[in-house]
Amino acid sequence: MKIILLGPPGAGKGTIAKALMAQDGSVQISTGDILRAAVAAGTELGKKAEAAMKAGDLVTDELIMGIMEERLLEDDCKQGYLLDGFPRTIPQAEALRALLARLGEKLDCALELDIPREVIIDRLTTRRTCSNCGEIYNVKSKPPKVEGVCDVCGSEIVQRDDETEEAIENRLEVYNEQTAPLVDFYRNEGLLVSVPTSDLEPVLAAINSRL
Ligand code: AMP
Repeated sequence: MKIILLGPPGAGKGTIAKALMAQDGSVQISTGDILRAAVAAGTELGKKAEAAMKAGDLVTDELIMGIMEERLLEDDCKQGYLLDGFPRTIPQAEALRALLARLGEKLDCALELDIPREVIIDRLTTRRTCSNCGEIYNVKSKPPKVEGVCDVCGSEIVQRDDETEEAIENRLEVYNEQTAPLVDFYRNEGLLVSVPTSDLEPVLAAINSRL
């Protein structure tokens, strides 16, 4: 499967990607995870991305396309991939279309998780993330077994810098302005599948009906 996951921050793209990955061996490619790892490692890429990320703004299309042009050529992409958090602007979507045409590859669909704003804000303010492996928790619905400690790798669980209320408001505004237009872009390409939920079963049913 080659799928784009669309939807605001907190819609459940990462969780759905992990479930789909377990199903058929596709690889999850999260530009947010790649950038956070670069920031943590203090690389040039991380230094360029850090301030925009902290504020909840987007990093430049050039930086993102530089990452993705390399990433999509790696061997593990041959089995299929789930693009989580990319593309996020029309220029990124156009650049991806051109890149895939060059590689002779086709997307199966763009899956939109269409989740109400109140649900998103509640989820993001209660979300916690493992500082090491990126496992996602929620203080209400999915707490770790031991408070503050990741069940998977034992590292510290933290609230992301961009999950303060101010940064969340900004990320949602950025989503509405810059990323939401991709829904129409992929509808026009005949690739859009839209579901009003992030529950796994209906999402899988919608994808399977499309494949
Ligand atoms: P995410 O984990 O997908 O919410 O991404 C976290 C942050 O990384 C975003 O708020 C942006 O600052 C940056 N980012 C991730 N993916 C992209 C992208 N495709 N284009 C621009 N910025 C991105």
